[in-house]
Amino acid sequence: MKTTKFEELPISEKLLKGIKDMGFEEATPIQTKSIPYILEGRDVTGQAQTGTGKTAAFGIPILEKINTKDKSIQCMVICPTRELVIQVADEIRKMAKYLHDIKILPIYGGQPIQRQINALKKRPQIIIGTPGRVQDHMRRRTLKVGNLQMIVLDEADEMLNMGFREDIENILEDTPENRQTVLFSATLPKSILQIAKEYQENPQTVKVVHKKLTVPSIEQYYFEVKKSKKLEMLTRLIDINNPKLALVFCNTKMRVDEVSDQLQSRGYFSDKLHGDMKQRQRDRVMGLFRKGDIEILVATDVAARGIDVDDVEMVFNFDVPQDEEYYVHRIGRTGRAGRQGVAYTFVSGKEVYKLRDIQKYTKTKIKRQSPPSIGDVEEAKANVILKQIKEVIENESITREINFIEKLLVDEYNTIDVAAALYKIIVSKNRKENIEEECDFGDTGAEPGMVRLFINIGKKHKIRPKDIVGAIAGESGLAGGLVGAINIYDKFTFVEVPKEHANKVLQAMKDNRIKGKTINIEPANKK
Ligand code: ADP
Ligand code: MG
Repeated sequence: MKTTKFEELPISEKLLKGIKDMGFEEATPIQTKSIPYILEGRDVTGQAQTGTGKTAAFGIPILEKINTKDKSIQCMVICPTRELVIQVADEIRKMAKYLHDIKILPIYGGQPIQRQINALKKRPQIIIGTPGRVQDHMRRRTLKVGNLQMIVLDEADEMLNMGFREDIENILEDTPENRQTVLFSATLPKSILQIAKEYQENPQTVKVVHKKLTVPSIEQYYFEVKKSKKLEMLTRLIDINNPKLALVFCNTKMRVDEVSDQLQSRGYFSDKLHGDMKQRQRDRVMGLFRKGDIEILVATDVAARGIDVDDVEMVFNFDVPQDEEYYVHRIGRTGRAGRQGVAYTFVSGKEVYKLRDIQKYTKTKIKRQSPPSIGDVEEAKANVILKQIKEVIENESITREINFIEKLLVDEYNTIDVAAALYKIIVSKNRKENIEEECDFGDTGAEPGMVRLFINIGKKHKIRPKDIVGAIAGESGLAGGLVGAINIYDKFTFVEVPKEHANKVLQAMKDNRIKGKTINIEPANKK
């Protein structure tokens, strides 16, 4: 569709300048279609996929409509997660770079409430918040909405999926009836339409669907593979392609746990993201993924939605998604910002029918590939080593090494023999290092397969077993049921965890607090 230059929209010079500074050239289709209606004051229901610029679609008209002389709360944006609240607040702040009299305040659960109350007293005009916390402040009357002009529900489908329906309805009930109500969503299921019907007045529906799917820079393939062989397939593809950042999608949280644990225990830099994790853990994981410390992120659809990391090179659909639209969202996580991206879908048994639906719905052809063999993996690994060798020959001095090798070159061996033997040594050494990483704790006096950890808190600190299990499960994501024997003494505690998870638990618990006390945790010494 035809897009619009931002200059063609009725927005102020200063706002335009802020938008230009962000590098935006043209309005995206959803922005082109919805901004004029929102500026007019109409209620709008907007539908467009993730990554199509919905934030600016409401952010621009919000900034344009704020009366800078008025220091009351004029607009609220409700988003499903803290992560998104922060993203949206950042994006709107950037656009408002040259608008000096506009104050924007993000509020979300997990932040001390008193600090938020103080911030609210500084008279922000725009609130970006999660449903629970916004409602909480409205009830305390620390967030006064008497002069509210506009409310935006961002990622509305996600908020309903996460069970926020009642909170949202409460918020809508308790804000002035004559407010403008804007709703953005990637999908428009019945539940959303009901909310629109009840709380919007003569809304203008704006849809941009499946636009991004035709992006040619995402190559899409599928593999037919037995369910029990999916993990093997995943690791082979990772080994062969060696992506800098990759996302692996599973249909359930349980599956995410499984796949993530298995990848970690095989030595991959991977972690997971799902709705059962505490916000703090999710923030930590996202931070590490952004930095590249985590290379493979295993996630559910809900947890990964709305997160914008631009350098994801590959998306793996470990399971075929249940909903065709999810497929679109998932693969849209790669090939962002015009980069090359690849999406691989693993198909087993009946999933092949679902795949057919997806192809029909998205009007694309997902190409079949035959599964890579062990030989392919070895070849890919060999290529990495050969490349290193080439670099050393070309860029480094190896005279000394040549002298050593020459000693071997007597009648029986030639240079090829020597090189091949060295290659073999390197490969088997790599393999050994991977194995050792998992179990260098020595004998900690634990049950077989477990590692006993020492923590410097005990009865004296009123510690109970459930505090220990809770802290370990909460911080490391290890299922509580996997925590083994716990012995609590006066000043310290022993707890056993499975060997393959011990490193993860130690990392996650380091410098953490239990019952307010900063703890020290380390592998136990056998008595
Ligand atoms: P959505 O909410 O639809 O998932 P976002 O609002 O998060 O999408 O936007 C996705 C990315 O596109 C962001 O990095 C944003 O800065 C960028 N973006 C938004 N609008 C434009 C535009 N008009 N031109 C270029 N980039 C844009
Ligand atoms: Mg969004």
